[in-house]
Amino acid sequence: MNEAIAWESVLQRDASADERFFYGVTTTGIYCRPSCPSRKPKRDNVAFFSSIEAAERAGFRACQRCRPNRAKAPNSAVETARSYIDRHISDLSDERITLERLSEQSGMSPYHLQRKFKETVGLTPAQYVRARKSERLKDELKRGETVSRASFGAGYGSSSRVYEDAPTRLGMTPATYKSGGSGAHIDYIIAKTSLGSLLVGATNRGVCAVTLGDNAEVLEAALEREYPAASRKRLTEPWSALRNWVEAVVATVEGAGSRTDIPIDVQASAFQWKVWRELQQIPFGETRSYSDIANAIGSPRSVRAVASAIANNRVAVVIPCHRVVRESGSLGGYRWGVERKRKLLAKERATRGESTS
Ligand SMILES: [Zn+2]
Repeated sequence: MNEAIAWESVLQRDASADERFFYGVTTTGIYCRPSCPSRKPKRDNVAFFSSIEAAERAGFRACQRCRPNRAKAPNSAVETARSYIDRHISDLSDERITLERLSEQSGMSPYHLQRKFKETVGLTPAQYVRARKSERLKDELKRGETVSRASFGAGYGSSSRVYEDAPTRLGMTPATYKSGGSGAHIDYIIAKTSLGSLLVGATNRGVCAVTLGDNAEVLEAALEREYPAASRKRLTEPWSALRNWVEAVVATVEGAGSRTDIPIDVQASAFQWKVWRELQQIPFGETRSYSDIANAIGSPRSVRAVASAIANNRVAVVIPCHRVVRESGSLGGYRWGVERKRKLLAKERATRGESTS
């Protein structure tokens, strides 16, 4: 369990983390679900457990408010809708899955289903459909099927829709590997740029590491620290999707434009995703302050949590954390060197100036 991510889920009362772990408060001897509405404990007094049994073995008692030892009320309408979607995607059916259809199947009004589904699964039904299609597409591409066959197989009406739908939504699904990269294979490329060496690492689901540094050794050591349990391989001839991603990243590093459709495969809390997605909305060549971002995601009081989510970005440039600066206008920090941040912003402004004049 990544305790930093777990703690952030507790701070955000992230209900989507409820099935993943529990936390105990050492000062009270009580354990809770991440979403528990009770007052948040101090970080120092918290212990994390992957199961109820582990929490109780350690001597903690169940909280009376969030009742972590009782099964959450099963939401059968949502389950029915979800399995309907799963079945349809695996049937290769090209029938459009509408909210109305799901509503009929599950016996819940479209309005309530939409809300309940989002609450339970963390995605709307439409987002869930797209995420499942993207996953399926990736699987087929991995098996070496051609794009058009794979796209039909994944339930897309025509292959052009693949490019509309495949993008960052993939990042909405939790990474399949465990913390430290256990269970993942990462292929990576190291390229030279005007900002020094650039490493782009990817699983077959998307980009999981984009880092800048003085040389290849530094970047490889950092990749190993980040994903000690993954198998890692440096490539000189990238597979075609990886080559496209690398080209897009290099273009951004050189101030030649930026793309937000690169699939990202990193482990993160729902809150981190929210922050990162907001960063992707900052137009090329512009900057925002930490509190701008906190306001934009509707958590104006979470400036520090926003700053910490930004500091934990593992994919430079693809998630453009370099476009966030201090309120005062000073640059603030940058994981890959403040000087690189300054250059990135200067290049973006120069490019934007050219294209608007
Ligand atoms: Zn509780």
